[in-house]
Amino acid sequence: MPQNSFGGKLLEFPDIAVDKFNVDAKIFLLSHCHSDHLVGLANKSFQSTVYCSELTKQIFSLDNRNAPWLRYLRGIAFNSPFSIILNDKKVVLTLISAYHCPGSAMFLVESEEKNVLFTGDIRAETWWTMGLKKNMYLFPYTCGFKSLDCIYLDTTFGYRREPYIEIPPNTDGIAAAIKMLSLYPTDDPDIEFFFADHTLGFEQAWSMIVSSLGGSMHMSNRILQRSVVVSKNPNCETYESVLGHFDTNGGQKFHACEEGFCSQKVKFPVRIKQCINLNVIDFVGCLLPVDMKTLTDKGKQGIQVVDYTTKGNAIVRYRGRTWIQVNNELLPSEIKLVFSRHSSYSECKEFVKTFNPVSVYPCVTSKGTWENGFVMSRLFKDVCVSGGIENFAFDVINCATHGIPISPIMVRPVKTINRWDLQDCENELRFVAKY
Ligand SMILES: [Zn+2]
Ligand SMILES: [Zn+2]
Repeated sequence: MPQNSFGGKLLEFPDIAVDKFNVDAKIFLLSHCHSDHLVGLANKSFQSTVYCSELTKQIFSLDNRNAPWLRYLRGIAFNSPFSIILNDKKVVLTLISAYHCPGSAMFLVESEEKNVLFTGDIRAETWWTMGLKKNMYLFPYTCGFKSLDCIYLDTTFGYRREPYIEIPPNTDGIAAAIKMLSLYPTDDPDIEFFFADHTLGFEQAWSMIVSSLGGSMHMSNRILQRSVVVSKNPNCETYESVLGHFDTNGGQKFHACEEGFCSQKVKFPVRIKQCINLNVIDFVGCLLPVDMKTLTDKGKQGIQVVDYTTKGNAIVRYRGRTWIQVNNELLPSEIKLVFSRHSSYSECKEFVKTFNPVSVYPCVTSKGTWENGFVMSRLFKDVCVSGGIENFAFDVINCATHGIPISPIMVRPVKTINRWDLQDCENELRFVAKY
């Protein structure tokens, strides 16, 4: 996953820095507690006030190594504007809850002259973006009464280059995983399930999966401690019923514990791994159950039994992978969870359109993407006040250093692809061959 590469300082408010703490600024803002947004905060020399959400402060405090800096953090409630005086001028800050991970915030920064929105990381699924219209602090901007000079946007999608992929809603990915998991026998104690991703932000997927299947959950101490803090907060209470209940809930056994903590002891561990960039052809080819009735005799010869569970289910090798044979089906030892905490290009565009700002500034960029067409005026001209490249500070800066990308790229419509669509997958091969 690419990292936050934003320089830190807001161009409109050069004394305010966000998610970067080794720069020269008077006020610092922290959008959420992921390591690529904390750069410089734990430097010996850092001694400034940092505004963040209350939950972000609590999560930050869980790591003892952060103790010396905890006193600089001021936890602020969402939707509670507060004023600071910067260079004799009043600046109003409002934290808006962001759909990314527990505690994550967007910052609305307003003054007499300039107004900007800093998104931090966001997954701008349609339901969330539409919900922002109901926020009374954003409403003046979504209804067109006031205008944002800039949206500092989570542009993680950019690193995958064009064509930019569409991403299914998280609940679709979770539902697909649940469907798959429901095929495994519940009465075989040798089968247990391991969530491979432990970053803050997976709690939603864990809770929905475990509670839907009536399973139980084991967590390592570090993750359990974090989950307890998270589940005490508004919007996250539903996590409480499943997190950390391993022996009490019964049913299938799930784990969110650090690598190898429990899995060596289990005869058939099933790994549940996040994936975002998967196409339907690969998905069907290697990750769905195999109906043995559809195999030819030659195909069946490729199945090698390596062990049996105590319940008598065969553990087999087939096509270079390990499977468990249940009745007449082979079930895989790895399940893909299509789940993204960052937005697709289409979602970003919809988000920007909701505000129709003057400009967009990307917070995730990578070397080389500019020449490939990662030009803000190209990507967002239809959803900003005016598409003129001179309005986009990022473009102006990059034009000066690298020059403008070649004209076929600049005039080409921005290409997106739905990898869950067979026709799109085939078209992609042709598109990539062309550019
Ligand atoms: Zn993040
Ligand atoms: Zn465990």
